[in-house]
Amino acid sequence: MDKRTAIKGLASKLVALAKKRDYGEAVRLFKEVSEKLHALTPNRVAAEIGHLSGEPALRALVKSFALAPCYWCKEGYMTCELCQGADTIAANGRYCEVCGGYGHTLCMFCGGSGFLSFESVPKNILGTLAHERLKWSANSLQRVAKRSSRLRHGIIDERLSTELFDTFHTTLRITAVLDNIDPVIAPEDIPPKKRAKQSRDVVLAHQCRRVNQKYQGGFANAIVAFCQAQANRHSSESHRRTIWERRRDFYASQFLENGADQAPEE
Ligand SMILES: [Zn+2]
Ligand SMILES: [Zn+2]
Repeated sequence: MDKRTAIKGLASKLVALAKKRDYGEAVRLFKEVSEKLHALTPNRVAAEIGHLSGEPALRALVKSFALAPCYWCKEGYMTCELCQGADTIAANGRYCEVCGGYGHTLCMFCGGSGFLSFESVPKNILGTLAHERLKWSANSLQRVAKRSSRLRHGIIDERLSTELFDTFHTTLRITAVLDNIDPVIAPEDIPPKKRAKQSRDVVLAHQCRRVNQKYQGGFANAIVAFCQAQANRHSSESHRRTIWERRRDFYASQFLENGADQAPEE
């Protein structure tokens, strides 16, 4: 098969896979075909996809690399190595120092973004890919906002607390995505003044970060208050009380500016 035919075949498969949102498979296929075309670098293959099959194929390629999941984790989180994810307080009344009782820790490969790291992405699509991830961040923030208003209006009981912790961890994921794309959309070798003018992405990223931080702080506060309330349900010397207090301190020290001092008084 000649290169043209191989690339055109790849392009139409990419479009179909992206339509099905099977981004991981699209990336795998791109790599497989690129490796067979040894004479061409992945950059070249990416460019040829655009030349030979046009805008929709290129968009499918970019979207696939942007949204393909990290190989090592699920949505930015790995099962906690120490407690193997089993050490949730509600489940068995134990507490894990490493994950604070969440059962999962941020993935060390993608930094918690849950997406493919930039090292495996063809360099010439990095800019548009960063834009795609920025769009993902903005959309995720809208979902966070919706959940936030629901969480604000209910008393946080056991059932809602799962949603509270999960939504909080979504904001950590958004932070990781924004941190990852920052060097791409606002490279440090461009002076800050020019950088601000350079693209709407920079402005949007800045807005996303600000809004995300606001929600993150709000959720962290709510978690600290929830842990305190759970602690208060148990007598002062009890084991259950101690573990809820330790969980409270875990979140306060990691995610509130003034650390554990800010934990609400009883
Ligand atoms: Zn753990
Ligand atoms: Zn990961």
